[in-house]
Amino acid sequence: PGAAGGAGSADGAEPDTSAAVTLVNPMGLHARPAAALAGALAGFDAEVRLEVPGRSPVSARSPLSVAGLGTRGGDEVLVSAAGPQADEALAETVRLIEEGFGEAGDPVLAAGAAATAAGAGGGSPARGASGAGAAGPTAPEGTPPAGAAPSGDAPAGGSGLGVSPGRVVGPAVHMPPPLGAPAEQAPLAPEARTTEARRLEEAASAVVQELNARAKAAHGEASAILAATAALAADPAPLEAALTLIRDEGAGAEQASWRAYTDIAAQFSAAGGALAERATDVRDLRGRVVAALRGVSAPGVPVRDEPFVLVARDLAPADTAGLDPAFVLAIVASEGGPTSHTAILARSLGIPAVVGFAGAQALAEGEGVLVDGGTGEVLGRPTPEQSAGAATAPSVRERAAFTGRAATADGHEVQLLANVGTAADARKAAAAGAEGSGLFRTEFAFLDRAEAPSEDEQAELYASVLRSFQGSKVVLRTLDSGSDKPLPFLHPEAEENPALGVRGLRTAWRHEEILRTQLAAMARAQAEVPGTQAWVMAPMVATAEEAAWFAGLARAAGLRHVGVMIETPAAALSAEHVLEHVDFVSLGTNDLAQYTMAADRLSAPLAALNDPWQPAVLRLIAATVNGAGLASAAGGAKRPVGVCGEAASDPVLARVLVGLGVDSLSMSAGALAAVAEGLASSTLEHCRAAATAALSAAGAREAREAASGLL
Ligand code: PEP
Ligand code: MG
Repeated sequence: PGAAGGAGSADGAEPDTSAAVTLVNPMGLHARPAAALAGALAGFDAEVRLEVPGRSPVSARSPLSVAGLGTRGGDEVLVSAAGPQADEALAETVRLIEEGFGEAGDPVLAAGAAATAAGAGGGSPARGASGAGAAGPTAPEGTPPAGAAPSGDAPAGGSGLGVSPGRVVGPAVHMPPPLGAPAEQAPLAPEARTTEARRLEEAASAVVQELNARAKAAHGEASAILAATAALAADPAPLEAALTLIRDEGAGAEQASWRAYTDIAAQFSAAGGALAERATDVRDLRGRVVAALRGVSAPGVPVRDEPFVLVARDLAPADTAGLDPAFVLAIVASEGGPTSHTAILARSLGIPAVVGFAGAQALAEGEGVLVDGGTGEVLGRPTPEQSAGAATAPSVRERAAFTGRAATADGHEVQLLANVGTAADARKAAAAGAEGSGLFRTEFAFLDRAEAPSEDEQAELYASVLRSFQGSKVVLRTLDSGSDKPLPFLHPEAEENPALGVRGLRTAWRHEEILRTQLAAMARAQAEVPGTQAWVMAPMVATAEEAAWFAGLARAAGLRHVGVMIETPAAALSAEHVLEHVDFVSLGTNDLAQYTMAADRLSAPLAALNDPWQPAVLRLIAATVNGAGLASAAGGAKRPVGVCGEAASDPVLARVLVGLGVDSLSMSAGALAAVAEGLASSTLEHCRAAATAALSAAGAREAREAASGLL
């Protein structure tokens, strides 16, 4: 049966037309494609239903029922349609399915699908050793996460699945418990049932409106997730099931909706695999509808004055989409897998995250916890030695004291910049004291676009980011589409091996006009914000020839500071020649580590390889600095070398980078104060000694230990 039961099944109507179609996106018709399908069909006067072997057909207008079919890539689905626009609706459905909903080449989803198919058991695809936990990842339905967690004697520790890299320490703050189940009540009198049904309809519609409003106000991935959640909230199936309970059994609106959503969540959980990961989304909707009926606000992420590590059973997409990386240092969840929204959003926000950690609920509220989103390690009450190298939570007072100027103890200045993805990020980063931005990931604004954004829209966005850092340097990166973040208008088709495919600057080989439009928009923004320093750089460059081609286009557009990212070993080793053509380079250490170590940066089992402390990666950084020195000597002007990967936000590694000769460091705004503090505590000579020791270490752990011992 379809997940939404009778209300979502559609086996009554006689189809006028039908077609069999094979799913090409790896995770099949999960919640987001199902919501997109329902949205696309809204304008057609037709009933469309989907059927897979062994299941009753379900209405394509019910995303929860469609997701409940539990399909995955390669499955064949029978699509049938009836009604005046049956042919058009069928054609549209088939088109969307065949196009794979823009996910056909998504490596995150593909990894999740492969792991789930391999039968890693239960909800999440791959888990590390379990922690010393209380409530496990399969806590029974309705078990509240510990709002006031036990403060046991032994510190909680162990490992889960690291899904978003970064190593931090901060106080644990638990998500508040979800709304409890409504109390049993006597059946309503028949004459009261119509009013009660109307009350439910109004509450459900208020939830949809609120989510849609938040989706409009958000950008990129957060906006797409909120819109998909709104589409799930608009699903007619649970609403009809609940209305039936009110009308036929006299159930109250709260009880009826609680039961309808709980049934769906239980079916999702029972199905296991990726579908079980979505049970949280359904429980979140249940909480939102019941909160609206009670007239209280839906439970959400706690608000604190100081940065903290957020501990939860799992986060609903609508919660994750609103997370503020300046306050949420890391996420630890007892449930969820690599494809959960928590994982996807944490990665896009740059928040370290560990999911599937059985010991989450045993972490004591307010006590320090060490989280390593790369290895999956979580440790309650870590000792200073255990926390070595981890970014700490700067207090508000310390953050305010960060003036935007950083230097080593002996006065060697290092420019500290912020990585930003939206105009709002830029404002927050400027307020946190960043001297400018070393990386504006322009693609983040357009992740959900089917069409390339116009020059006008782009110029406005870039100008607003430049204004936030009036007079300071802002490095605008051209679209880095492909691999883990394909833009639908540049990547309509799946690639066999997307991390090694047509990503970054390579997309402009075929779509030079999109790059030209973007460069023109950047040049306009530069002209519109006088006194600004608009720098521009291209991602994923491998050869000096590509750098020369990009520089030619950028300069012809009127841009004055032109650079490229060093993200491939090839570019690092050819830095001297690359820098003959450009004014600066910025090391993307996230990708440089991935390509040096031949280890997918999204793969949890490969996290230890994918570490910027790997001496091989450090040697490529040293080679880049060396190449920049040779190019500068040959061509006169100094060519600055920056780092804008995660490595820059590690207070110990940041000093090693400075010791290697890096001029500027760009990081998430929340890391600025800790990195500045680290720099101020060491002389340049100490940084150089730490760099020399790390370069000659045998492995990543040895490099970290050797450097820490010297700083
Ligand atoms: C990097 O690869 O280090 C980088 C900064 O770019 P992104 O993380 O956006 O790929
Ligand atoms: Mg990169």
